Amino acid sequence: MGTMKAWAVVECGKPLQEIDLPLPEPQGDEVLLEVTHAGVCHSDIHIWEGEYDLGGRGKLRMQDRGMTLPLAMGHEIVGRVLICGPGAAGKVKPGDVRLVFPWVGCGTCAACQRDEENMCPRGQSLGVYRNGGYATHVLALHWKHLVAIDGLDPALAATYACSGVTVFSAARKVLPLPPEEPVVLVGAGGLGLNAIAVLKALGHRRIVSVDVDPGKLVAAAAQGATDTVLADDDGPATTARIVAAAGGPVAAVIDLVNGTKTAAFAFDALRKGGKLVQVGLFGGEMRVPLPLMPIRALTIQGSYVGDVKELRELVAIAQQGKIPPIPVTTQPLPTADAALNRLRSGQVTGRIVLTAA
Ligand SMILES: [Zn+2]
Ligand SMILES: [Zn+2]
Repeated sequence: MGTMKAWAVVECGKPLQEIDLPLPEPQGDEVLLEVTHAGVCHSDIHIWEGEYDLGGRGKLRMQDRGMTLPLAMGHEIVGRVLICGPGAAGKVKPGDVRLVFPWVGCGTCAACQRDEENMCPRGQSLGVYRNGGYATHVLALHWKHLVAIDGLDPALAATYACSGVTVFSAARKVLPLPPEEPVVLVGAGGLGLNAIAVLKALGHRRIVSVDVDPGKLVAAAAQGATDTVLADDDGPATTARIVAAAGGPVAAVIDLVNGTKTAAFAFDALRKGGKLVQVGLFGGEMRVPLPLMPIRALTIQGSYVGDVKELRELVAIAQQGKIPPIPVTTQPLPTADAALNRLRSGQVTGRIVLTAA
């Protein structure tokens, strides 16, 4: 049996370590791929640190949710098919380059049967519960999770598996809206820039981008945000600036940060019938004045990544040239630890994608 290398979390919050792991032998519908590209996502920082901040309810520990160490993170994966399990023969062949859908479930429940595996109660997402893309190889659990990306830059396509499909799914929860109706995006990092690109591809025009970092707002404007709002520490002032930029309270906010402060200023910016879609995992908690929910007929909805059907749809839209690329910088897979640290320090505009040597 061969071995593979992984740049793995061995202890939460400690530097990633290069380790050897047994090379998986694909069974059934499984497919073994050589990793060519692996995006570094902000949620990797939470997985690495091993916990989410639940505000007054303490911490949600990844290890209590079933994460085991050592773990190769990385859920934005493009790879080259190496070995097909017997059930995958004829579906893909060695040498095929494929984007790997990572948000996989048990494969048998009703959600999984509908190919909505991100809603499976027993998720086994790659890079979270199973080894992902910070490695020389990755095991896809089913050939149906592999998406052809012909004509796309694989480094950019890798980002569609998380940041792309996440914003695509969130955008579909606020649309349809008239194209000139402002949609507010909180956060202008990799997710925020992808959200601008996806909203534009879906025909939306008026996009208000909100961030604490003026540099990221410059990138958001370059990506096509029609308005930008600097979020200072004072929530009510930020709400007032959002409302001013949008010309009134807003129909929709997609909160890609989703921390205590952003949730408060986003909620307060909603108009009657407005919807807040919560996507980010920054953490904390939110206090909602209950009568305002019915009086203003508001909706607060969570959105967790997306399903493989949405990923295929997104890739097809990208293949039509409708999604302007976000800034992507590449660096070698063995520098995964340095990439993660740069992302944690907030120094990254767009996305870092790790590449095989
Ligand atoms: Zn991610
Ligand atoms: Zn399932």
